[in-house]
Amino acid sequence: MYHNSKNVPFYAYGFGYISHTPAILKKFKVDETSYSVFVIDSFFKNKDEILKSLSFESQDIVLFLDANADEITTDLVDVFTNHVLKQKKILPSVVVGMGGGSALDMAKAISNLLTNGGKAEDYQGWDLVKKPGVPKVGIPTLSGTGAEATRTCVMMNLKKNLKLGMNSEHTIYDQIILDPELTKTVPRDQYFYTGMDTYIHCLESLAGRHRHPIGDSFSRESMVLCQEVFLSEDMMSDDARGNMMVASYLGGCAIANSYVGLVHPFSAGLSVVLGTHHCLANCIVLNALEEFYPTEFKEFQAMVKKQKINIPSGICKDLSPDQLERLFLSTIIHEKPLSNALGPNFKDILTKEKVISIFKRM
Ligand code: ZN
Repeated sequence: MYHNSKNVPFYAYGFGYISHTPAILKKFKVDETSYSVFVIDSFFKNKDEILKSLSFESQDIVLFLDANADEITTDLVDVFTNHVLKQKKILPSVVVGMGGGSALDMAKAISNLLTNGGKAEDYQGWDLVKKPGVPKVGIPTLSGTGAEATRTCVMMNLKKNLKLGMNSEHTIYDQIILDPELTKTVPRDQYFYTGMDTYIHCLESLAGRHRHPIGDSFSRESMVLCQEVFLSEDMMSDDARGNMMVASYLGGCAIANSYVGLVHPFSAGLSVVLGTHHCLANCIVLNALEEFYPTEFKEFQAMVKKQKINIPSGICKDLSPDQLERLFLSTIIHEKPLSNALGPNFKDILTKEKVISIFKRM
């Protein structure tokens, strides 16, 4: 058994680069019957200026995804894929995902399903995707999740109560377009929380026991960029948004070779039991983990203060014993990251009382 890593083969970076999308998509066209499928965050539905720069052609299929409404389910992936298959006799030449992590992940999943057949849930797991998908192009419009660079697409399977992606080398984008102009209109809080996903992932992996020299290098550089962004006067200046887009990409590259630590398991608990959004939940958790990450905790506090961001507190103060029990169970189940952070005997440290006392600090 050996570990092999793959990154996105082509990336185009620059302010205003979205205008090069038509030229980039042309590379994938075979003949005049070729068409593209676009999966776009519904935030852009009435942003005519941006949509115009994508230069849709009459045969293209454009799908909007309401990322605010729900997380991606395996059923929704099937619905989107079947919509494409019903409309056309041939497969698209390219699938384009444009938006935050959800739209990017949805496009990856559709691309894999179109060539591999079956249902989305058949591919939840590691290396179950057998054939390359339809070529895919990703255009992130929010920085931090790293979805533009990772080899998975997170999907919730409601029947099996299973949150797991199609973890495969075929899930990686063939081309991404990084245009920091696109993150200009993101609300400040959301920009901060999402950017922190990268920072937190990198601090967790650098503090962990499982190490990889290339993963570590990606993580270190990504953290330096996050520090520059969030300790600067304006985290949303042009420079800062450019740096943040690079940090997100590098953080995503790091994920292939690294494990998270304590923040993500606790954050998953908040998401499962209280429905807290992933990126916000991470920030709430880091705020309560000073004893495990003292240096990063201090730096995080400085960033929150500098950018005048509100991190909710007191969210676990009035929970029922049943809810606290579920928080404990949905945290402690994440054995890999927890043993990465604390070693194989992590349960000696993270007793039920300890876990609940940490949640009560949030
Ligand atoms: Zn994360």
